[in-house]
Amino acid sequence: MDHTVPLEKSVFWDLFLKAIKESVNIQSFNTWFKPLSLVDHSNNKITISVPKAYFSSWLEEHYMPLLKSVSSAILGYDVSFYFVSEDNTEQVEELQNSTDHFSEANVYVSQVERKNSSTDFFKQLFINPRFTFESFVVGTSNQFAYAASKAVADAPGTTAFNPLVIYGGVGLGKTHLLQAIAFHCLNSKRSDNDNIHVIYVSSEKFTMDFIMSIQKNIPQLHSKYYRSADILLVDDIQFFNNKERTQEEFFHIFNELHQHGKQIVLTMDKPPIQLKGLADRLINRFQWGLVTDIQPPDFETRIAILKKKAEADGVYIDDKIAEFIAENITSNIRELEGSLIRLLAYSSLYGRDISLEMASEVLGDTIRKRNSLITIEFIQKLVSEHFSIQLNSLIGNSRRKEVAIARHIAIYLSKQLTDSSLKTIGLHFGGRDHSTVIHSIHKVEKAFLKDITVANHIKTLSEKAKNS
Ligand code: ADP
Ligand code: MG
Repeated sequence: MDHTVPLEKSVFWDLFLKAIKESVNIQSFNTWFKPLSLVDHSNNKITISVPKAYFSSWLEEHYMPLLKSVSSAILGYDVSFYFVSEDNTEQVEELQNSTDHFSEANVYVSQVERKNSSTDFFKQLFINPRFTFESFVVGTSNQFAYAASKAVADAPGTTAFNPLVIYGGVGLGKTHLLQAIAFHCLNSKRSDNDNIHVIYVSSEKFTMDFIMSIQKNIPQLHSKYYRSADILLVDDIQFFNNKERTQEEFFHIFNELHQHGKQIVLTMDKPPIQLKGLADRLINRFQWGLVTDIQPPDFETRIAILKKKAEADGVYIDDKIAEFIAENITSNIRELEGSLIRLLAYSSLYGRDISLEMASEVLGDTIRKRNSLITIEFIQKLVSEHFSIQLNSLIGNSRRKEVAIARHIAIYLSKQLTDSSLKTIGLHFGGRDHSTVIHSIHKVEKAFLKDITVANHIKTLSEKAKNS
């Protein structure tokens, strides 16, 4: 039913906010309603723009009955609500066909794609403008991946990093870096080199597109589209597993692009040699350029990330609180962000300042779920048992090859699995200095990429430590 709306947009919105203000406490109003803006209200449908994606779920969960009753009281009929977030790519993608309320500034659409109607089929490319190099916090856990990404973004196709492969566990910033490269290239395109065609795609979308192109009998369009990239960024390659035809299609695209000096950047959840269900010839090609990992962030980086996120949200968090969260949420950055958001939401809902007490109350569940604290002593014990080596020799100065390797691994795991500083780790290993500790870590990192047995030892030992 198409209602003609008698109320002007601004009038409706004023009335709406006023009614809400009377129904909720001022703190909640300022947090959850003041930042909203009305996009449209017509056809029984109210579209509201929210500053952050999490606002929509919060409003839906906590305020939907209120929103509905207030608006129907004003308009005289029932409406449904739609939220559009200024920072959520998926939503933007979903809504792109149904609404044109989006400001272009938030969404960078590759111009080549827009011009070329024959490739409309492959949808447009959306980059989340929140994922930039500027918003990426660099620490020891990700500095190498960051530097390589930066180098590639500055001079795509011309460095030795082709392909650039970034691997690591969930929520550690792989997609963020990939999109930062895309964003950077699209932006530099705007000024000088006009014709750089950037394609960012998840491996799942690549697969779906390919399947669809076969169904529609136009697989050659799929190849043509991806072969037109100057930079091809494919996220989460592990999902190509056991999809043989997709892998074959990708293999040919890869070769063509690589031969022509086009840049390829890939992410995956494991080092290439450990990927299951992928053709050897692909895995082999993944290692032609640079393979680099992202590790879980260390304590200092976690603090820096929290502070940056809080700052971006316009809130201040006390050092003590940041330390508390960073000490307790150690595994991944998505969780770290989630904890901060929950804390902010809680604080504004109850109109209370964030305190340590509140933090432990709110984050209690998350904290209880995490791994029990792993100590360096415990890692030393595990490693010495695993390799059947005396604890004394592991910690001491023995230069026997197998002892030295076990020691490198124990040092590496101490860095990965505990929050200890390099100095503390050195002290636990017979007073070695900080540079010796770094040397061990680098040795293992290198071996990890090349030597499957080392990788397996580490995997087994990490799992043992975490499950203990
Ligand atoms: P992945 O793709 O590895 O699973 P994402 O790139 O999606 O992880 O990162 C998860 C979240 O953590 C994102 O919101 C991202 O912005 C944030 N994030 C990850 N690494 C960093 C970092 N170094 N600095 C700031 N934010 C980060
Ligand atoms: Mg990702």
